[in-house]
Amino acid sequence: MATKFIFVMGGVSSSLGKGILSASLGKILQARNYRVTIQKFDPYINVDPGTLNPYEHGECYVTEDGAETDLDLGHYERFLNVYTSKANNVTTGKIYKTVIDKEREGAYLGKTVQIIPHITDEIKRRMLLLGKGRKYDIIITEIGGTVGDIESTPFVEAVRQLQWELPKEDCLVVHLTLVPFLAAAKELKTKPTQHSVRMLQQAGVNPDIIVCRTEHPLNTSIKKKVALFCNVMPEAVIQSMDAPSIYENPFLMMKEKLDVIVLNKLGLKVAQAPDLADWRAFLKKIYHPKNQVDIALVGKYVELQDAYKSILESFVHAGAVNECRVNVHTIQSEYLNEENVEEKLAGYDGVLVAPGFGERGLEGKIKAVQYVREHNIPFFGICLGMQMAVVEFARNVCGLKDAISTEMNYPTTNPVIDLMEEQKSLTIKGGTMRLGAYKCVLKEGTLAYKIYGSKTIFERHRHRYEFNNVYLPLMQKNGLVFSGKNPDTDLVEIIELPVHPFYIGVQFHPEMKSTVARPQPIFVAFVKAAIEYGKNKGK
Ligand code: GLN
Repeated sequence: MATKFIFVMGGVSSSLGKGILSASLGKILQARNYRVTIQKFDPYINVDPGTLNPYEHGECYVTEDGAETDLDLGHYERFLNVYTSKANNVTTGKIYKTVIDKEREGAYLGKTVQIIPHITDEIKRRMLLLGKGRKYDIIITEIGGTVGDIESTPFVEAVRQLQWELPKEDCLVVHLTLVPFLAAAKELKTKPTQHSVRMLQQAGVNPDIIVCRTEHPLNTSIKKKVALFCNVMPEAVIQSMDAPSIYENPFLMMKEKLDVIVLNKLGLKVAQAPDLADWRAFLKKIYHPKNQVDIALVGKYVELQDAYKSILESFVHAGAVNECRVNVHTIQSEYLNEENVEEKLAGYDGVLVAPGFGERGLEGKIKAVQYVREHNIPFFGICLGMQMAVVEFARNVCGLKDAISTEMNYPTTNPVIDLMEEQKSLTIKGGTMRLGAYKCVLKEGTLAYKIYGSKTIFERHRHRYEFNNVYLPLMQKNGLVFSGKNPDTDLVEIIELPVHPFYIGVQFHPEMKSTVARPQPIFVAFVKAAIEYGKNKGK
């Protein structure tokens, strides 16, 4: 069977949920036993989102092979439970870089290098790339941005060309639009969808399926109207209603028969019934929890939920395992200080200190760690959160008053967190952190060993600074346990404090590997500890 290509493009407005639609479609096709992967093409000129502030596009998601990618890849992995890779996220910057590098090498000698065909050829090459090697039956490509944006025009043009070049049954275009409800008129309006489809058609692309985001159900006459104006069959007009959980979306899409329509158009068998029993059980646990806990997420990007997307989703997965609703409350670390830390944190069942970069909000994070350490509140520190736990322990337990990470421009004689040797000579910022999955060996008898139930683990990284091993003996003497280390470099990966009921800090990003099918073990254990803590408090 030839690999099939599905393109998902958005119209009318951004933030309609192309990522969730792509992930949900991928899920229901996978549940019918097709091998699926999803890739994202982003129109911006950055080579990758690694150099972007989280306020721009939300969290930067890291793949197993060390690519810094768009946060939608997190959704793809969480839904499909299949690793994505460097090849799954392409930006305009990457495309142009390849073409310009080739031009300099002389690959186009004598020719004028142009958007069509050179840029579009490179876009098409990358769109088809994951189809090589027959690893997947279906490849879904989400195109970032909205149809009509100047920036996404070359991507739309590449899809137009592929619609003609690929056999008709191997290529399909899904257009996601908005059908707004006008309260004053009490009416759903299809005009924005008509315009958006027309714009797509002007670019030469004919959508096969139109998915309409709507707050009210679409009746048959509205579906017929959209179908009539947009050259699709009425059954190919799909309603996509808001749901309390994004994880319900595969069921909503299945109810609309999106999978059946897609498979029919691609000439694939529909015979096999989808198997979503585990997914259904997971959703039931989310909707009917037996407990609830309140967790404080201490960070500095709290104004934007997407900045901590993977952490929030990891709590959903870990909550389901524990049959517990995890209410995550974000706390701005910039405003945390000696005077208010008790008032701000005392009521929580657990505190997670978030990853991050730079000085802003740093002292607040250190105060938060001190408070939870001294008050036996379950603590989980991730990356910068772990580094600040080390700083706090060095300052307040080991007596190294000026301890800090050298990332911060503070004068210090105790750089307990320091730049890795190989980082010192680097001048280029993009793609040069310690990135992707690294091996970590766990010490038997520790909390980490108990949590993972195995000696060797692989977790993903994204940082430049590390625990400074010069300070290891002193900290060990004072009770800190170094329960996970990289066996090749001896770098510290996990710290814990056995005198505390639950205190763990990790240099890696465990949140990047939590999926519905494989909830991340530390998150699961942390939620469990928070439930215990709450019960003991009389919750
Ligand atoms: N800024 C720290 C470093 O680069 C931590 C990074 C992070 O939290 N991801 O080491």
